[in-house]
Amino acid sequence: MRLLLIEDDSALADGVMRALRLAGYTIECAPDGRYADTWLSEREYDLVILDLGLPGLEGSEVLRRLRSRRQSMPVIVVSARELLEERIRLLDLGADDYLVKPVATAELEARIRALLRRGPAKLDGLLRIGELSLDLTGRLAWIGEQALDLTAREWSALEFLATRANRIVSKDLVLQTLYSWDTQITPNAIEKIISRLRLKLEPAGVVVRTVRGMGYYLEQPKSAGVQKPSSR
Ligand code: CA
Repeated sequence: MRLLLIEDDSALADGVMRALRLAGYTIECAPDGRYADTWLSEREYDLVILDLGLPGLEGSEVLRRLRSRRQSMPVIVVSARELLEERIRLLDLGADDYLVKPVATAELEARIRALLRRGPAKLDGLLRIGELSLDLTGRLAWIGEQALDLTAREWSALEFLATRANRIVSKDLVLQTLYSWDTQITPNAIEKIISRLRLKLEPAGVVVRTVRGMGYYLEQPKSAGVQKPSSR
């Protein structure tokens, strides 16, 4: 899961990012409302954590623009402003949750888990592509009954491709997804990760194709469709 934290207090941002990375999330921080607005229109995120008092562009305006672009990922507002009117205004603008600072990281993590669970169907439960099963919440993959041994980066690449099965994704987007694991990651490293994934997926008959000059796509086996997970 790829998260965007929009927060100008660097000490606070560092603490939140450290905790959420330990919890297994890929997370980036935008310290300014304008950066946040640009990143949100160019990159893909599964969830946004939004401060309100920001340089560049107010948090509420970042949210308004996000929803006016029809981007539907969950947004958690984390703000020192505790007025009821303010909370209602932000929820009306399309926020999914509103926490008043100071926020315990354990509570923030619990709210994130809750929102990701009830988010788009693909974020809930199991995704099956032929013989391959992915537990998107537990970050585990199997071929048949056999658990796949994947590194954190291989898992992130697989999750990214599998939730977009049969759609071409650019190498740039894969790079951005894996970026937070290692700031030194290069396009060459992406190719190596994809090669290792190909070998590991071979027994499932699931193929990661390269489209020259465009990117990659995960091709589902001809015999089986992508079975969307059912909601709990
Ligand atoms: Ca602030």
